[in-house]
Amino acid sequence: MKITWLTQGSFLFESTGTRILVDPYMSDCLESKGLKRLVEFPLSFDELKPDILICTHDHLDHLDPETVQYIAALYPEAAITGPISCYEHFRQLGIAEQRLILLERGKSVVQGKIAITPVLAIHSDPQAVGLVIQTADKKIYLSADSEYDDDLICPLTQNCELILICINGRLGNMSLDEALNVVKAVKPLNALPMHYGLFAENTVDPQPFIDDCIKNSINSFEMKPGGQFEL
Ligand SMILES: [Zn+2]
Repeated sequence: MKITWLTQGSFLFESTGTRILVDPYMSDCLESKGLKRLVEFPLSFDELKPDILICTHDHLDHLDPETVQYIAALYPEAAITGPISCYEHFRQLGIAEQRLILLERGKSVVQGKIAITPVLAIHSDPQAVGLVIQTADKKIYLSADSEYDDDLICPLTQNCELILICINGRLGNMSLDEALNVVKAVKPLNALPMHYGLFAENTVDPQPFIDDCIKNSINSFEMKPGGQFEL
């Protein structure tokens, strides 16, 4: 599994020829609300080549209407998926219903040889989901945007090879300490912090989280936007 962090909560997962794109925020639509991006989105539209686009919830840094419409037009074969809040938004954007897939917690969607299972997220979009992404031998848990809740820790999320977890500690997301509590309970081999560094008003230093993971014998490091690593 090759993984590329695309800033904020956005990732590209690639395995056995399948490319899963999650939550790309490529426009500057939040600038009009006072949130100016600090870093450019690291890939061009032509480089994305998604087989499936997933939006985990209907907030502009995760479902960016301009980005979704552009990707939908450029890649007419790609499935466009999300929980009901996103699904309705996709329809409003004029995306054909036959390429939409509704994500429901606990119900897996299979793309190529990868199973994607939406799981609980506690966020101001009540339909928000986290994702468990499984290949034949690897399991990844992406928290997406979520507050802490004991129920984030469940058989589906436990003992994964990798957890990608939000740490920014505001606007409905876990703090560093809360994210660490999830990590200690989920017991992944690797835990990487995400959802920071895009907006000055909503960021945090990830290093204390990384240090605490390593103290707990869980591998961790700071991802670089656009940097690819292999699991
Ligand atoms: Zn967010």
